[in-house]
Amino acid sequence: MRPKTILVIGGAGYIGSHQVKLLDQRGYNVIVYDNLSTGYRDLVTVDNFEEGDLADKDRLREVFNKYQIDAVMHFAAFIQVGESIKDPAKYYRNNVTNAINLLDIMLEYDVKNLIFSSTAAVYGEPEEIPIKETHTKAPINPYGRSKLMIEKILKDYDQAYGLRYTCFRYFNASGADDSGRIGEKHNPETHLIPLILQTALGERDDIYIFGIDYNTKDGTCIRDFVHVNDLADAHIKGLERLFGGGGSETFNLGSGKGYSVKEIINQAKEITGVDFKVVEGERRDGDPAILIADSSKVKQVLKWEPKYTLNDIIRTAWNWHKHN
Ligand code: UDP
Repeated sequence: MRPKTILVIGGAGYIGSHQVKLLDQRGYNVIVYDNLSTGYRDLVTVDNFEEGDLADKDRLREVFNKYQIDAVMHFAAFIQVGESIKDPAKYYRNNVTNAINLLDIMLEYDVKNLIFSSTAAVYGEPEEIPIKETHTKAPINPYGRSKLMIEKILKDYDQAYGLRYTCFRYFNASGADDSGRIGEKHNPETHLIPLILQTALGERDDIYIFGIDYNTKDGTCIRDFVHVNDLADAHIKGLERLFGGGGSETFNLGSGKGYSVKEIINQAKEITGVDFKVVEGERRDGDPAILIADSSKVKQVLKWEPKYTLNDIIRTAWNWHKHN
């Protein structure tokens, strides 16, 4: 039997590149499609790289003609909450309109298996912790709304056209591949762990804590960090379920454990051995105090268990940052 061919849209990005490496290791034939707007060519570890934009349907058709694609994984989205508030058009155009282009081309070529990256931002301010998939969806920024719109579109496309999907709502994706070959690279960087590690490396003067007056044990926000390779493993389980005839499902992807910003900083100081400067400051707009996933559904249905601890997350991210 020929290996299944997976088209990874956004395979040159942070999560996409880890997905590509794992798919390749597991024997899939992997094609990367990326416009390199936020991705990096050197994060792509397979030969089949197709540069292209999702706005360009003819370019997409070329790729669908060239390869016999069995499933698509869609990681190509803009992800910065603050930017989405300042420039919502950019987010709706790419995360919604361009995603619809992709769905339309998939249907044109009768490719009906999709893995879609969504986000915990679809929930908005949590009413209950841990957050279940059935929690109210009330995103508080255009980024979260753009993802929720596609989730709804997917549901309609499944009903009308039989396009089956597995949708994953990520909590805080973090860490890097153990090899040190690929890792988190954003420009500008806005995420906590990379910023902390850049500070430990002396590339920044200090790490700024956004708010110390939250109603949490130490006053700082609590987040659910999940290793990028654990995410990638869940995606393959979701893919195999679709290949086995499973129907469309949406899953939270988090570790189910919460750590405060201060706890992350302290662990990072221990792992790096650097006593870098920490500045306690004002809250950042739009940060819920606590985000923790209820991941029981993905554990039960996909038999997924995260393997990486918080220590592993920071250790692998540090290994990557030190060498890049
Ligand atoms: N955070 C912080 N300082 C920073 C960046 C982030 O205190 O320089 C906090 C942020 O307020 C949030 C947590 O770290 O509570 C995680 O933020 P990040 O942007 O990494 O991910 P998010 O939870 O927003 O998806």
